[in-house]
Amino acid sequence: MTLNDTPRDIPIVRTIAELRQIVADWRREGLKIGFVPTMGALHQGHLSLVQTAAKHADKVVVSIFVNPTQFAPHEDFDAYPRTEASDAKALTGTPASLIYAPKPREMYADNHSTQITVEGISEGLCATTRPHFFGGVALVVAKLLLQCLPDVAVFGEKDYQQLLVIKRMVRDLNIPVDILSGPTQRDADGLATSSRNAYLTSDERKVAPLLHATLQDTAARLRAGEPVEGVLVSAIQKLKDAGFDPVDYLELRSAEDLTRLHSFQAPARLLVAARLGKTRLIDNIEV
Ligand code: AMP
Repeated sequence: MTLNDTPRDIPIVRTIAELRQIVADWRREGLKIGFVPTMGALHQGHLSLVQTAAKHADKVVVSIFVNPTQFAPHEDFDAYPRTEASDAKALTGTPASLIYAPKPREMYADNHSTQITVEGISEGLCATTRPHFFGGVALVVAKLLLQCLPDVAVFGEKDYQQLLVIKRMVRDLNIPVDILSGPTQRDADGLATSSRNAYLTSDERKVAPLLHATLQDTAARLRAGEPVEGVLVSAIQKLKDAGFDPVDYLELRSAEDLTRLHSFQAPARLLVAARLGKTRLIDNIEV
């Protein structure tokens, strides 16, 4: 390996002021800014979003911030994997230009008191078992977008309800950014890549791909015209029989506004969340 083959280190900044300075300099040069917010423990899903951002921007900022406000007290905030050194290394193989990794104190003043509620679209599905979740996500994404002020920001379809919540919030608050989405990246056996897959035991990892397989099977039955209710009930039972407990939801929803569909009509999305051991897995596909 010659010196020129050495992957370049990507600069890391930890303050809003540094981030704004660098982005402002790029903007003065007439460059277009892309942004990919993450909670780190980067995997192929995140890296694919960086590639998508680079197709629409000259510079790509990746944020790494495990956001406390989207975790309830009993959830895995403390256990959530924090792997900044290997994340930084993984990003050297991508077009990322800058890592923004603020400390919680930089993000939230002790007496921060502003909340964001995106009504309707952030109710039901994941909000049923995680009522605090979309408020926390909307707040941190709004803050990150205002801190970075990118031209485009990219989010994964893996978190489909989250994607629609963010699109709605950005529209409603007139935040000047284009929200783009990237398709769900999967392991060879169909399991959607996720930072939380690291929690799965080896036995659970063998069962986990059934989540995606069940979505595919269910979608095929719906397309073939079988009644929605019966198809969903039998799919949920299949997941329970395989050891998913509880199955939080498996639902057919409008792909545009997430209203519940009682008969199949495109554009539709099939969404699922279920727990396997102590790991909560979510997935969704277009029908
Ligand atoms: P997270 O770090 O889990 O908060 O995710 C950061 C971004 O990566 C979000 O926009 C997610 O939707 C996206 N993402 C997570 N997993 C995947 C995946 N398997 N494929 C595509 N995007 C993903």
